[in-house]
Amino acid sequence: MSRRSVWQTAEARRTYVAGGLWIAGSVAALLVGDTHEAAWLHLRIDLPGLVLLAGALVGGWNFFPKGIRAVRRLRLDMNFLMTVAIIGALLIGEPVEAAAIAALFSLAELLEASAVARARQSIEVLVRLAPDRARVITEGGEEHDVPAVGLRTGQRVRVRLGEIIPIDGRVVDGESAVEESAVTGESLPATKMIGDTVFAGTVVADGYLEVEAGTDAGDTTLDRIVRLVRQAQAQRSPSERVVQRFARYYTPAVTGLALLTMTLPPWLGLGSGLEWFTRGLTLLVIACPCALVIATPVSVISAITSAARHGVLIKGGEYLEALGQTCAMAFDKTGSLTAGRLEVVALEPLEGVPAEEVLRLAVAVEQRSEHPVARAIVAYAKGRPAGRSNHTVSGFQSRIGRGAIARVDGREVRVGSPDLFPDVPLPHRFAELEQEGRTVVLVGTDGRLLGMIALADQPRPGAAWVLDQLRRLGVHERIMVTGDHELVARSIADRLGITDVRARLLPEEKVATVKGLLANHGTVAMLGDGVNDAPALATATVGIAMGAAGSPATIETADVALMADDLRILPYAVRIAKLARRVIIFNVAMALALKIALAVGAVLGAVSLLVAVLVGDMGASLAVTLNAMRLARLDPEAGIGGPVSSGH
Ligand code: ADP
Ligand code: MG
Repeated sequence: MSRRSVWQTAEARRTYVAGGLWIAGSVAALLVGDTHEAAWLHLRIDLPGLVLLAGALVGGWNFFPKGIRAVRRLRLDMNFLMTVAIIGALLIGEPVEAAAIAALFSLAELLEASAVARARQSIEVLVRLAPDRARVITEGGEEHDVPAVGLRTGQRVRVRLGEIIPIDGRVVDGESAVEESAVTGESLPATKMIGDTVFAGTVVADGYLEVEAGTDAGDTTLDRIVRLVRQAQAQRSPSERVVQRFARYYTPAVTGLALLTMTLPPWLGLGSGLEWFTRGLTLLVIACPCALVIATPVSVISAITSAARHGVLIKGGEYLEALGQTCAMAFDKTGSLTAGRLEVVALEPLEGVPAEEVLRLAVAVEQRSEHPVARAIVAYAKGRPAGRSNHTVSGFQSRIGRGAIARVDGREVRVGSPDLFPDVPLPHRFAELEQEGRTVVLVGTDGRLLGMIALADQPRPGAAWVLDQLRRLGVHERIMVTGDHELVARSIADRLGITDVRARLLPEEKVATVKGLLANHGTVAMLGDGVNDAPALATATVGIAMGAAGSPATIETADVALMADDLRILPYAVRIAKLARRVIIFNVAMALALKIALAVGAVLGAVSLLVAVLVGDMGASLAVTLNAMRLARLDPEAGIGGPVSSGH
């Protein structure tokens, strides 16, 4: 599926020819000593005049039909304005200008198309990363070379050194470092062993892998990224809508001004009609909103696409712009600011219950839970007697933000925070453990506590740096919102320089907290995990989820998905959003200022038709697209303020 470049299309060829004819005609006119006087209905039929006429027609062919169509729909569009300007210039014997408008306007259109196409293509490259063929291993151990599009869930594929994994799945044999940058933006390879998840489009860097497909072809994380980025690119951002609304008034207003300029002064007897007609034509060229209209989308597309290449999936200009202006950011603690890789540090039975029995019941329930606390307890029990016992577990219920309940061997077992045990007095040991900054989980049954499990969590690598970067980027309010208790939350917050801590929040209270922040700050971003914090993320203006590569639901629902499970990319996401806003504002302001200056100059007769199209159209389009390219060069590794240590 190779698409032709913008520069090889028929439009492009006509543009080259028109440009050549314009230059040749101008040179010829100079050589024959053309005095170049404008005059009404002065069609030049000398050689230079004919060459230039040909240039105007060939270049104009790119937009004459569109202009005529627009006029039939009673719309003042730029193709029509340029068409009128060319005809006008020919009618007053200014073929150099006519050819220039045709060539330069065509070139400006190509530049815009190519800038947008280039930004878009850098995501299309990702699609092409996935290999065409895959080697499937059959039950009998035979290897078949099949088209990758036919891969189905459950099939086993073999991937050798240097090859690209064709499908998302789980490693069932082999071990290798895998270069995952296409999916996560992470440049360091990750080691993958049996049981680990791998993604289509990632590269086996130093070993051999057999992968059991976890999805069908076409439904991989890479496919999702590309599909969502395409959707995001197609969405109009708030500033783009504002500019388009503005253009709807701008163009008719300047066109009206052009008509007035052509008619009013001569009628009042202020100089030659021909002179004012030329000034009016110049205004028609300036009335074209081209650079103004392209300024925003080209910046948004450039930002969204390059962010995606670095593992930051922004779901549209709306979220990009919101993230770029947010001063308040809320953070979930467990699994977001902390690694969520909790460790059990104490197992304390109560009332003479054997410790192993407490753990056994807790594991029976937590095996069915996704929560980091649950995973820590299950991991802790592995290799202990409690990890090996069998139970009949039924009726599992997750109490989000509180814990989990299930029937184990017929009796109800609850594992979680004190909220799950409303009528039970807490042992004083509970408060002691909390004082030490532990997350304490209670295990109980039939309204009776059987024991406690204390867990410790660590801030993620670089978390303090990330929060400091965000502060420097103007995120003045950084708020921790957590379901955990105050003491644990404080001990982590202190290490990260967060002073505003809202602890013991149930999921609905997290939502209420975000609503409160919205009322105060207008725009609020929230970082959380896509599953437990989904309601709060949806409430925030911008919901940011991390570790999205592993979770299709998270990729789909988050407004901004950080593909890697790494916090350190967050400042980059905010930086590119801020830079995008600055580029958009600068671009629109520059294009507008230029148009106004040129319009004033045109009325005063100081700006010629040639200058108007060269500077106001092609120059401005080039400037805004080049400026937007800066977004693609933003370095995710760099930080603000001195050398960056990715340390802790
Ligand atoms: P955070 O907001 O910090 O991410 P959560 O809202 O997910 O935390 O959980 C809040 C508290 O609820 C945890 O600190 C823990 O005490 C309890 N909890 C939640 N889920 C479970 C579970 N599956 N097992 C035990 N305790 C849990
Ligand atoms: Mg959490």
